[in-house]
Amino acid sequence: MPGVLDARDRETAVRRLAAGPLDVLVIGGGITGAGAALDAASRGLRVGLVESRDLAAGTSSRSSKLIHGGLRYLEQGDFKLVKEALRERDLLVSRLAPHLVRPLPFLYPLYKKVVERPYVGAGLVLYDAMEGTRRPVPYHRHLTTRGALRRAPALRPDRLAGAMVYYDAQVDDARYTLTVARTAAAHGAIVLTRASATSLLRDGERVTGARVRDEETGREFDVPASAVIICAGVWSDLVHLASGVRAGYQVRMSKGVHLVLAGPAIDATTGMIVRTRKSVLFFIPWGERWIVGTTDTDWSGDRAEPTATAEDVDYILREANRVLAKPLSRSDVLGIYAGLRPLVAEPPPEKHPDKHPGNGEKPTTKLSREHVVDTPLPGLASIAGGKFTTYRLMARDVVDAAVEGFPEPVPPSVTDQLPLIGADGLPAVRASARRLAADYGLPVAAMEHLTDRYGAAAVEVLDLIRADSALGQPLADGHPYLRAEVAYAVTHEGALHVEDVLARRVRLLIESPDAGTSAAGEVAAIMAPLLGWNRRRRAAEIRDYKSFAAASTAALHTPEPLPEPAHEALASA
Ligand SMILES: Cc1cc2nc3c(=O)[nH]c(=O)nc-3n(C[C@H](O)[C@H](O)[C@H](O)COP(=O)(O)OP(=O)(O)OC[C@H]3O[C@@H](n4cnc5c(N)ncnc54)[C@H](O)[C@@H]3O)c2cc1C
Repeated sequence: MPGVLDARDRETAVRRLAAGPLDVLVIGGGITGAGAALDAASRGLRVGLVESRDLAAGTSSRSSKLIHGGLRYLEQGDFKLVKEALRERDLLVSRLAPHLVRPLPFLYPLYKKVVERPYVGAGLVLYDAMEGTRRPVPYHRHLTTRGALRRAPALRPDRLAGAMVYYDAQVDDARYTLTVARTAAAHGAIVLTRASATSLLRDGERVTGARVRDEETGREFDVPASAVIICAGVWSDLVHLASGVRAGYQVRMSKGVHLVLAGPAIDATTGMIVRTRKSVLFFIPWGERWIVGTTDTDWSGDRAEPTATAEDVDYILREANRVLAKPLSRSDVLGIYAGLRPLVAEPPPEKHPDKHPGNGEKPTTKLSREHVVDTPLPGLASIAGGKFTTYRLMARDVVDAAVEGFPEPVPPSVTDQLPLIGADGLPAVRASARRLAADYGLPVAAMEHLTDRYGAAAVEVLDLIRADSALGQPLADGHPYLRAEVAYAVTHEGALHVEDVLARRVRLLIESPDAGTSAAGEVAAIMAPLLGWNRRRRAAEIRDYKSFAAASTAALHTPEPLPEPAHEALASA
């Protein structure tokens, strides 16, 4: 069936990849790789994608979850980037993924009377103007201090000198990445998770595919392809190194941590962005909860599981408490996650010759906005950097580079016209929420929850409930997820492990105070018959998930430091 990643049929994907030959093999199943697979497949190419762990298991499930132009880039004068990102934001909100990307108001509190309002106001006029007049999100507005406190009573009133409200958009990053990968599959891409590219196949200088290890079985096989695209985020250098290829850029890892807080911890009806001494802090509504972050520190540890520290937690709470009337403490924190920004830097000049072996006379690195596309060898293109928001443009650029030498002309990218799975038919499913809820014996809120997460594809989840009404029951107390979503994660979304479900398909890892560990048994029980797990395998899955969750949340279980003696001045807030 088009667009279905059925974990029970993984062998077919292995067989099809090994049979080849592909036009394009994509390495990496984050948003960039999923986007590249969709871009290439929708141009009529034969495409495969291999991902070492799970779709979005890297940075693409650990972001601030904003689809935004980025006010900070505006302040840095990067107008082109902001304009592009805003155009992408509007395309996703209005056409490509209205079920997944939603406009969100942000309140920007002002603390310096006279000087700050004209400065921020002018920035927001520019931000709005860059978007054009046919806009799916409202214009910014000025608020008085009273108006600001009405929307955000949580703010400390002293020194508050009013606020601005502007709009950006938010997304469940892991779900979005998964939906892009499914849409790629709907266009014929073969998507295989838990499969690592271990080295590149070569015919002289030319790259002709990749050797792949199936991480589930340990088997290795070759995937022949006319072009290989590396979209490995912070792993980029390792993938290049494994085949002795020198990339035309370096990736620097910068760790960003977010806290997830209980809804009542912050009394506000809008997102908020406040200046910190180093950068900005976002308060982002996340269902019934808040996401607050982020930090920005260099990282040189394990790329697969960057960990937050107690200092990260205290930094975020301290910065938040500079502007909040009722200070937050560790007891308000439900969840935590850390991600690595794949920041690109050109190699130092002595290590960056103008040409790489086998690549002719032209410089191989083409710097483009924040992302870098590199073609170090014939048949090989790689990309790093960029932002989630601009993934579609990144995908287009790297596929363009990969197919440049193809004997037959390849059509240009068409992804700006391709709604993702779940977008088509969305208004009708939304309008039918009441009837569908009644037909399937669900509360209307549960139906709306499904539509918000799957769009028009919510009816596929309903099909599972029709076949087994017990799947219509909630998965865990106090959370909107249904048991059917676990089954759907296996049958339609390629989930192979309990972690795939609890960390990325439903988000109990970050949303639940016990990081979803009490639901692990239930999740394993639903997955077991679908994936043929015996009792031992079930126990191992639960055990593995619990140790993964414990490592992810360790920073929350260290002793709380003594409170700061007094509130710091807000002058720099
Ligand atoms: C804290 C933080 C906040 C952010 N907030 C935002 C935001 O609000 N908005 C925004 O637009 N952007 C944001 N970003 C940036 C955005 O999240 C990233 O740019 C984006 O997710 C990177 O995606 P990627 O696909 O390039 O990398 P990844 O998601 O890391 O994907 C790379 C994948 O490659 C796989 N891989 C590695 N080696 C191999 C191999 N040998 N074989 C097969 N697979 C392999 C990995 O397992 C991984 O899944 C944020 C980033 C961070 C860290």
